[in-house]
Amino acid sequence: MRDHIVAGNWKMNNDLAETQELLGKLKLQMVKEPEATVMVAPSFTNLYPTFQSLKDTPVIVAAQNMHESEKGAFTGEVSASMLKSIGVTTVIIGHSERRALFNETNDILAKKVQAAIENDMTVIFCFGEELEDRKSEKHFNLVEKQLKESLFQLPQSVWKNIILAYEPVWAIGTGETASPEQAQEMHKHVRELLNKNVGKEVAEATSILYGGSVKPNNAKEIFAKEDVDGGLIGGASLNAVDFLEIVNSF
Ligand code: 13P
Repeated sequence: MRDHIVAGNWKMNNDLAETQELLGKLKLQMVKEPEATVMVAPSFTNLYPTFQSLKDTPVIVAAQNMHESEKGAFTGEVSASMLKSIGVTTVIIGHSERRALFNETNDILAKKVQAAIENDMTVIFCFGEELEDRKSEKHFNLVEKQLKESLFQLPQSVWKNIILAYEPVWAIGTGETASPEQAQEMHKHVRELLNKNVGKEVAEATSILYGGSVKPNNAKEIFAKEDVDGGLIGGASLNAVDFLEIVNSF
């Protein structure tokens, strides 16, 4: 059976005090160990305190981004080895906000994934179409291109370190979720692509998360779909009660 994973992407929210408050609530409310693997991705400045705070819990701490180079003259950037040096071994790569606002192309993302894998990190790789692509029925091709150009060059042996996250851009922060059927349809398509381009075992074993306006009131329905293995949660992950309700929606 594939891992069920629920990851909270806190984006550029919460200063240190707010982060500590949220962590306190999360730990207080997490009375029993969740069935799903739980991850949270704070901002860079809050990574270390979050890692320290969650050390004795099963929650995994992830970074929201990293640079593809090991070190050097890249003002404002953070490398894989820097993340690892504070205990962080999971990183989100390819979020649509990085693609759209920071010009991260499929090519650059391929390099970031490569650097993360060389550093033995786990990657949550995000992809997904814009509304225009869906309206013009190009969404399947667009997603295929994103995966082909950034991931399909990877050897089978490293896929145990890859988690996929389908996030249709039109559903992010908009309150408009993909229907469970739309999510399932794309996840199935992605699994078929994995089967064709990487291999059957990888296709069956890779967790594919859905992201885009997942809330406590729709998580169950979405997670019930055969090829949906969990969620990448934005807004609702900033509230401990809502996030844990989503975590327990399998
Ligand atoms: P929302 O859950 O706020 O729509 O954000 C989804 C997302 O971008 C997670 O990475």
